[in-house]
Amino acid sequence: MTSGPIGNAPMQRIYLDHNASTPMDPRVVAAMQRWLGSAGGNPSSIHTEGRAARRAVEDARDDVASLLGADAVEIVFTSGATEANVTALRGAFGVDGSPQRLLVSAVEHASILEPLRSGAAKTSGAVLLPVDREGRLELAALELELRVPTDGVVLMAANNETGALQPIREAADLCAARGVRLHVDAVQLPGKVAATVAAIPGVTSAVVSAHKFGGPKGAGALWIKSSTRCRPLLIGGGQERDRRAGTENVPAIVGFGVAARIANEELSERTTRLLAAEFAFLNRLQVIGVNHFRNGPLDAMHRLPGTINLLLPGRSGEAVVMGLDLEGVAVGLGSACASGAAKPSHVLAAMGLRPEDILSSIRISCGHGTSIEEAIAAADRLLRVLTRIDAAPTSLSVL
Ligand code: PMP
Repeated sequence: MTSGPIGNAPMQRIYLDHNASTPMDPRVVAAMQRWLGSAGGNPSSIHTEGRAARRAVEDARDDVASLLGADAVEIVFTSGATEANVTALRGAFGVDGSPQRLLVSAVEHASILEPLRSGAAKTSGAVLLPVDREGRLELAALELELRVPTDGVVLMAANNETGALQPIREAADLCAARGVRLHVDAVQLPGKVAATVAAIPGVTSAVVSAHKFGGPKGAGALWIKSSTRCRPLLIGGGQERDRRAGTENVPAIVGFGVAARIANEELSERTTRLLAAEFAFLNRLQVIGVNHFRNGPLDAMHRLPGTINLLLPGRSGEAVVMGLDLEGVAVGLGSACASGAAKPSHVLAAMGLRPEDILSSIRISCGHGTSIEEAIAAADRLLRVLTRIDAAPTSLSVL
């Protein structure tokens, strides 16, 4: 919990938007510090300073590979998951090349859907696969679509808005049986559930992003099986085995590696803490009588611990998010990337929610550092916000 003055009284801020971005772990900051200072060699240089930087990058590659259950030579460092997703689409699926038939779940992140949308004229188009009411892929639809010759499938491992875990293993079996590539967006897994998607037979590429689990922003990785074609976005000096040109961002990559190692080592402890915070928040809502529904899977086995997509009937989600911010609580409105434009969530729409219910939904995402006290306090502050909205004579509560 961090404190800062809000109005006249100091207010303890409570950060519950970890699916958008997490605070950096102090151990990550300490590791990066060294590389922000005098240790400044280029990893491609053969002198002592260059070799030290190379070693640091390769150590980080090992740690990120372990996180994904991958072979280190198949890890490509990028500027984040957006770049990694676009690279995977370009290379493996030829978005801007020859016509390809792709199957993509309707709840993918914008970094998958938008490149496909903009490249659609040059491809045979992407077929959007439906999800059920809980936001999980309809496997029967995947099976049916795979009967038509298909070049690739894209499926996120966990949804950033609802926390829905997708049936990756089952999808991978279906793809492998037909020799179809499967790209997995694993961004929301690390530090919450096991992220070893590269070890699943049938998965051919995957992405992660450091800032979602205690690492720096602007560092990500693409894991791509050696046998899978990779068409780089950036061409130049031949770094990253010709898969991503440009001098490596050594401090960020070092931080990424440390964050990956810690997320792996502390996984079970983090999962337990996330579940405890989630339970405390929801339990408090019941106790204080906040009327709500939860969007996403009902079964805890089918969702990320700590992610709560909350439908507050009759209220504007935007007004609730702004009210909570004034109360010192940071939460999200669907996907952070879409919230700037205040676009209704395509994820909740794909799940069949009514437009008014989509606009009444907010996303609360706890971190492993969220305490029970913070979760309870956040629920109490939510009640205050709702009470104030309901009492307002304006149209704030009207959608
Ligand atoms: N995929 C998912 C599921 C995400 O949640 C995000 C971040 N919102 C991204 C991709 C993009 O990651 P980055 O911020 O590293 O570009």
